[in-house]
Amino acid sequence: MGLSFEHVTLGQRVLFGSGQAAENLASEVERLGARKVMVIASEQGRATAEQVTARIEVARFYDDLAPHVPIDKAEKARTAAREGGVDLLVCVGGGSTTGMAKAVALTCGLPVVAVPTTYAGSEATNVWGLTEASRKTTGVDDRVLPASVIYDAGLTLSLPADLSVASGLNALAHCIDSMWAPRADPINQALATEGIRALRRGLPAVRNDPQNLEGREQALYGCYLSAVAFASAGSGMHHKICHVLGGRWNLPHAQTHAVVLPYVLAFNAGAAPEAARRIAAAFGTEDPVAGLDSLRGALAAPRALKDYGLTAGDLPEAVRLILPVIPESNPRPVTGENLLELLSAALNGTAPAAPPSHPHTH
Ligand code: NAD
Repeated sequence: MGLSFEHVTLGQRVLFGSGQAAENLASEVERLGARKVMVIASEQGRATAEQVTARIEVARFYDDLAPHVPIDKAEKARTAAREGGVDLLVCVGGGSTTGMAKAVALTCGLPVVAVPTTYAGSEATNVWGLTEASRKTTGVDDRVLPASVIYDAGLTLSLPADLSVASGLNALAHCIDSMWAPRADPINQALATEGIRALRRGLPAVRNDPQNLEGREQALYGCYLSAVAFASAGSGMHHKICHVLGGRWNLPHAQTHAVVLPYVLAFNAGAAPEAARRIAAAFGTEDPVAGLDSLRGALAAPRALKDYGLTAGDLPEAVRLILPVIPESNPRPVTGENLLELLSAALNGTAPAAPPSHPHTH
């Protein structure tokens, strides 16, 4: 069969440059003609937010935030934006902060300029998430896609090494899952491949020295590519697993991704030879699983879900919740049995089970 695919590219302006965030933000605010800017940043992120917004007029700093965007916090921020006559939202922070700006944009229709300080990648997607009574809802809406993203690796220097590694592996998971997600295509696979290369180069440098700006730039560049690939390809098996675990057992987002990734790669690689070839090439190895293993070793990556509060008793429920949401596109059929095996290994941090020698494909 010839090459045939459907691909959507989301429209967004990206400005990338270390030490240039304040300048780039000022030019974006002018270009968008904004007069009343609400800056969303956590209390801990306030100093960074002040530095980034030094060259613009700020109508209000807003810092009543919490992880996973609780609906009542979102409602309060929406009211603040409406009552303040705000015409632009600027968010400075990690995925939780970007998530709050998206929640406001969703109902108020305001444009967002995102200035990310982690590798979560939310800034490059049109996906929003809200939590109500500890249940997480997500949705897709182009209104939440930031109009512009300003990347400044200098702002990530303060992200501690462990969190940088976990967040960077979250980005790597976007790349790897994009290879077999429901809307995987050659464009998002190409972006994902380059994303793996950049993360593989940047993250070990960051682990060795969190102040290494060149490593930070590569990691941030890889994070952006990973998010664009993910936004286009959609959630694959890996993201479905992490979404359920994070939502139901309140496990930390980046660390959960970091632990689960090698298990999903080992599970699918044998049944997805083209994806496996691309991933291995990006790691510079023969075997994709070995490539990821060696990177994880160099990063001293998070290893076991039990370290984050999951227990063996939770696994049957996890299997029940995850099984129905695994995409049809997954290269290897998922059963209650092989999923339980995968989750048990991820729980304990043991080596992934070897896949069958003659995997069945759809
Ligand atoms: P986070 O935003 O909660 O940040 C983690 C911690 O790092 C926080 O304590 C924060 O204060 C701190 N931090 C952030 N930047 C820092 C810096 N430069 N220096 C020092 N400390 C810093 O976590 P996250 O992993 O960035 O984002 C996770 C959230 O984003 C989850 O809610 C997840 O669901 C969401 N997310 C959404 C999408 C999407 O497309 N909608 C994609 C990825 C993640």
